[in-house]
Amino acid sequence: MPTVKNWQLGREMHYPYDAAWPKRQLAFVFNTNRCIACQTCTMACKSTWTFSKGQEHMWWNNVETKPYGGYPQGWDVKLLAMLEKENPGRQVWRDGTFTGKTVFEAARDRAGEQPQRALGYLPSDDEWRYPNTGEDVAVAPKGAPGKAHATGVALSAGSPAHQTWFFYLQRLCNHCSYPACLAACPRKAIYKRPEDGIVLIDQERCRGYRKCMEACPYKKPMYRSTTRTAEKCIGCYPRVTGKEPLTGGAPTEARCMTSCVGKIRLQGLVEIGPDGRWKEDRNNPLYFLVHVAKVALPLYPQFGTQPNGYYIPPRWVPRAYLEQMFGPGVAEAIDAYQAPSRELLAVLSLFRATQKIIFRYEVKAGKKVYETTANGKQWELFDDTAIAYGHDGREIARTTVEEPFFVRPEAHSNGI
Ligand code: SF4
Ligand code: SF4
Ligand code: SF4
Repeated sequence: MPTVKNWQLGREMHYPYDAAWPKRQLAFVFNTNRCIACQTCTMACKSTWTFSKGQEHMWWNNVETKPYGGYPQGWDVKLLAMLEKENPGRQVWRDGTFTGKTVFEAARDRAGEQPQRALGYLPSDDEWRYPNTGEDVAVAPKGAPGKAHATGVALSAGSPAHQTWFFYLQRLCNHCSYPACLAACPRKAIYKRPEDGIVLIDQERCRGYRKCMEACPYKKPMYRSTTRTAEKCIGCYPRVTGKEPLTGGAPTEARCMTSCVGKIRLQGLVEIGPDGRWKEDRNNPLYFLVHVAKVALPLYPQFGTQPNGYYIPPRWVPRAYLEQMFGPGVAEAIDAYQAPSRELLAVLSLFRATQKIIFRYEVKAGKKVYETTANGKQWELFDDTAIAYGHDGREIARTTVEEPFFVRPEAHSNGI
């Protein structure tokens, strides 16, 4: 049986196929701290791709409130419980390495059960019924459901998490490096594009067996009864490949990314090396955020698909919850976010500065504008300028760390 290297797990793992890596990979970073759950991203995807008959329940992009929300309902809690049942007490990380079983390994080792390529389940119709249950529902104090904690809402050095908390989790297909949907498809209808790593379902080959829906740990393929096929996020590939007239044919970020009101999303393409890891590309903003600043982490890396979506964890949420969701590195990521370096702050200011994909950035030093204490140390704010460059090396955006402040003339103060 083939083994592949999964760098997010810090080890080799079992996968039904040999590794095959694309030249470049679509990847994205979401800053959960800034999301306002406006669902503009969700509607941007829906109005572009899933507005037809048979697609009513399809939300390829959705934003759910954690810990209670989920679409389909309970998708992550259910799978975590299934994995725990297969490998009780041993689904743990040791020194940055995951020593438990991934969905592929748990399926391989399952004795006497119906064989699966990846451990999973098919959600019931009921679980697909409500895309946003649990919206804005916070964790209550122990033993007092429905009540808010009297003193649970301040962050300080001694209390780094709220006791009453929730946060928004933005979700779409992760265009995984080892897709479980692809591994499970008996028709070989699912493929990963060599040019950008986008994972697609060939609608001609698909026969609607729904094995992908069962296997995907993130539950992102969805069944369409009018065509009897499965459909999923297509990574807005026409935009990524430069077919968007709005940007004059430049590689353009996906609809759910560019429409983000909270400016929490940055999507791009990263170079993949011969070993399947991201090639060192210091000034690609995604490479910087994930591998240099180490401020963004994958969603449930322990599932084993090596997802290409990364999240800056919410800083007010109890660490144990976040560690289960994002793996090791949570404390370091939150520290880096709370007292950002000059470069990190400049890169964060590039989020949603342009619709075009940023391939490289550079930072020009500005003057000091503020100082304070953060993480127990002195911290200074500089009004640096971040400059973004596109696929052809030309400048596509420029922004400063301090947002410009405009005062509307009195004559227009009460109207447009
Ligand atoms: S998130 Fe699910 S549907 Fe998307 S590539 Fe990964 S396994 Fe496949
Ligand atoms: S990348 Fe495109 S297809 Fe995928 S969820 Fe976002 S808008 Fe929808
Ligand atoms: S558009 Fe942005 S801020 Fe609004 S819900 Fe989506 S990710 Fe969050």
